[in-house]
Amino acid sequence: ASGYTLLRDPRHNKGLAFTENERDAHYLRGLLPPALMNQELQEKRLMHNLRQYKVPLQRYVAMMDLQERNERLFYKLLIDNVEELLPVVYTPTVGEACQKYGSIFRRPQGLYISLKEKGKILEVLKNWPERNIQVIVVTDGERILGLGDLGCQGMGIPVGKLSLYTALGGLRPSACLPITIDVGTNNEQLLNDEFYIGLRQKRATGQEYAELLQEFMTAVKQNYGEKVLIQFEDFANHNAFELLSKYSSSHLVFNDDIQGTASVVLAGILSALKLVGGTLADQTFLFLGAGEAGTGIAELIALEMSKQTKAPIEEARKKIWLVDSKVQQLTFILIICLFNYYVSVYLRRVKTDVLNLLQGLIVSSRKESLQHFKKPWAHEHAPIKSLLDAVKAIKPTMLMGTSGVGKTFTKEVVEAMASFNEKPVIFALSNPTSQSECTAEEAYTWSKGQAIFASGSPFDPVEYNGKVFVPGQGNNAYIFPGLGLGLIISGAIRVRDEMLLAASEALAAQVTQEHFDKGLIYPPFTNIRKISAHIAAKVAAKAYDLGLASRLPRPKDLVSYAESCMYSPMYRSYR
Ligand code: NAP
Ligand code: MN
Repeated sequence: ASGYTLLRDPRHNKGLAFTENERDAHYLRGLLPPALMNQELQEKRLMHNLRQYKVPLQRYVAMMDLQERNERLFYKLLIDNVEELLPVVYTPTVGEACQKYGSIFRRPQGLYISLKEKGKILEVLKNWPERNIQVIVVTDGERILGLGDLGCQGMGIPVGKLSLYTALGGLRPSACLPITIDVGTNNEQLLNDEFYIGLRQKRATGQEYAELLQEFMTAVKQNYGEKVLIQFEDFANHNAFELLSKYSSSHLVFNDDIQGTASVVLAGILSALKLVGGTLADQTFLFLGAGEAGTGIAELIALEMSKQTKAPIEEARKKIWLVDSKVQQLTFILIICLFNYYVSVYLRRVKTDVLNLLQGLIVSSRKESLQHFKKPWAHEHAPIKSLLDAVKAIKPTMLMGTSGVGKTFTKEVVEAMASFNEKPVIFALSNPTSQSECTAEEAYTWSKGQAIFASGSPFDPVEYNGKVFVPGQGNNAYIFPGLGLGLIISGAIRVRDEMLLAASEALAAQVTQEHFDKGLIYPPFTNIRKISAHIAAKVAAKAYDLGLASRLPRPKDLVSYAESCMYSPMYRSYR
């Protein structure tokens, strides 16, 4: 190949790091200025440049440009500066990037499979230049973070998740394939946006949707075999649960919003217990939001509880309560109209009052009208409308926010939690930051420093009464890269709940006394590759124990085996 092609190929380009010998051998003379600059110096230069940008989206675009120009340098930056760059390539910035994807769009970055490709999906997969795919992250863009339907512009999510698979979990970039399935969008703003990159039609549903997905799943297995991991990402819950249960017996599938979230939150809960005292079964949980995240977490908690107490899972579920939004279906539409009006006119007080009207504890008297994934949580109780009343009635020890609606853990709610718990555990998991149920500062000040707090999007440490509180981030990025690595290195052919529990326990085990002393319930991200290797080892071990691993013989030391499999972003020398 010509030197020019080499410089244009992000997988091989090293910029000014090409040595004199390489410049001679690969026809690069004159195509580069004379200086040599090693990878460390390039990294220093780029980090300096990146920090000049004050607008997060500019940093995002700069990172995407780097990925397209010099892949190894991109990953070197991401790995060495993970705490700083995670919020750039992932939540919260990726959310804004998806919203504006049409105007910042430069290169495709992944595969687009739309209704136009129906009947030809296998051919489309063959158009992708890489043959050896190990992980696919796929979205249909209907529920991007807490931002709703972003249609085809959801592509930012699979792209971002897969760069974390590589940076944090060590999967090779060439083995990762981002896919967006475009069945239209119901987002009017996008449909009317001249720069929108997707199909300009309302979402296909029902049979048309199911057929496209079926063709896709079949084509993937046919093209890449049984061991390719398919991660469903940011599907709306009316499809997510169904897709997961439909394909989990025939494919290696995993839904990060349901299962990954559950695993990372359970890990946080297990380590929070070390600060609170008592066992998991001693706790009472209340969730705001009974969708993918809420019911996913609830179910995994119940599984772990019943594993610990050896009681049936139905018993464990009784310790867990959920609040959703569907209590007054008839007045729903009307209230939404009012709500939109109020939000634009009044401030938070009015907004939360209106929100309260929309809430309801899931109880057995509502069972008939509940979606199937809510039914296990419909316990005996008188109806309760607002979250605050539910908190007062249920008296949870741990409060979880998974509704996607910001500012819902009000002062009154947090104060109530602190009134009957010495150390109330509060997780505000909704993303991005604007949707967080409360901020870290609110949680600490309103609880007078009593709360153990974690969130979905990152918050800075808070000083309260002379003490520094470091909030935890229940970021899915703790789990899915290691989980994926574990599945891949063992050649697993199915995902099981036991593997998710193993991943949670492995993550919780990485929190040391030193971390607890600082109030941390998650380990710092700086060691994430080591953490991922430990998670991978536990997941792989489960796959072997369950007879679901196809890569034999089983390696003796799974942790060091996992580490040895990890991609390194260091430049290669070309002879
Ligand atoms: P989802 O499936 O759409 O579920 C949302 C749930 O919240 C539904 O049960 C909905 O009620 C309920 N809800 C909405 N507005 C409400 C209100 N005002 N009061 C009470 N309940 C309300 O969404 P999801 O996938 O679970 O995601 C929810 C949020 O969690 C998103 O913001 C997402 O970013 C975040 N999340 C965070 C993490 C993390 O931090 N690691 C991981 C995954 C997701 P109905 O059922 O009645 O509609
Ligand atoms: Mn997601």
